[in-house]
Amino acid sequence: MAKLKLALYWSASCGGCDVAVLDINEKILDVAALADIVLWPIALDFKYHHVEAMPDGAIDVCLWNGAVRNSEQEGIAKLLRAKSNAMVAFGSCACFGGIPALANFNNGAQAFERAYVEAPTNDNSEKVFPQTKTGVAEGELELPEFYDTVLALEQVVPVEYFMPGCPPPVDLILKVVDALATGQLPPPGAVIASEKTLCDECDRVKEEKKISKIYRPHEIIPDPERCLLEQGLICMGPATRGGCGQRCILANMPCRGCFGPPAGVTDQGAKMLSALASIYEVKDDKEIAAMVEEVVDPAGTFYRFGMSTSMLRRKRIVGVS
Ligand code: SF4
Ligand code: SF4
Repeated sequence: MAKLKLALYWSASCGGCDVAVLDINEKILDVAALADIVLWPIALDFKYHHVEAMPDGAIDVCLWNGAVRNSEQEGIAKLLRAKSNAMVAFGSCACFGGIPALANFNNGAQAFERAYVEAPTNDNSEKVFPQTKTGVAEGELELPEFYDTVLALEQVVPVEYFMPGCPPPVDLILKVVDALATGQLPPPGAVIASEKTLCDECDRVKEEKKISKIYRPHEIIPDPERCLLEQGLICMGPATRGGCGQRCILANMPCRGCFGPPAGVTDQGAKMLSALASIYEVKDDKEIAAMVEEVVDPAGTFYRFGMSTSMLRRKRIVGVS
């Protein structure tokens, strides 16, 4: 049987998703037996022109991790889309924008100002910023255009499969390897995770208790048997898709929401706010105001992984669409 052609690409990512692929340990040999890797920038020295030379549809599966942040990433996404029969949004950044999409609370100019001027390690009083084109004696140097808005992969090209997680857990990656081996990939559009919420899968004792104070994880040592939300920790379980293996919950840490919204939920942050409002006991406006104050960084808490695909998508900044 002809070997499958597999591409792996990272765009606006931390590299953790690529490392997660290696975390499958000796199973990587199964992947090597099953598929020829035709692009994997972190590990193998293929060039873009090698991909450009392929006929359309020549790649069977492309595992894409990271969000789309600049024109080079958008261009490669479109190139790999044309060459691949199936695109997998691999990891929370590719699925929902992930951590990079927290930059959607600023625009590109603000990000450059911080990175190239304000950061304490800079010495850039003349405010020199990267340019897309720079003339030098030898000709013109080109850099990708830096976008104002961080996008999820499906906001740039059609995507067949979504594998959330920051990074995706090994057992889900192995599930895809097995599906590739047997040719039994799920129907297009599938999210390779659970259909339930994390709360549905969580074994912790739920007592239907109300809370009157919110704690940050470093402020208390929670009871390892009881629901973390009912102990005052913002656990994103009610608004998050299950299938992660409860890695954070088993470590006595609240869920951060990296698996994104469960089936049927459009906006993870709004769903979590609703869950929190239903459990929080307040008597008057003063207590409501005090509760709001207790949630440090609400946007980063409720939209930590999903800003790009949320109803908010980005903060409105004058002059930015
Ligand atoms: S999903 Fe998490 S591990 Fe993967 S690239 Fe994004 S931040 Fe890194
Ligand atoms: S809120 Fe968190 S701790 Fe509580 S049941 Fe849901 S997942 Fe478990």
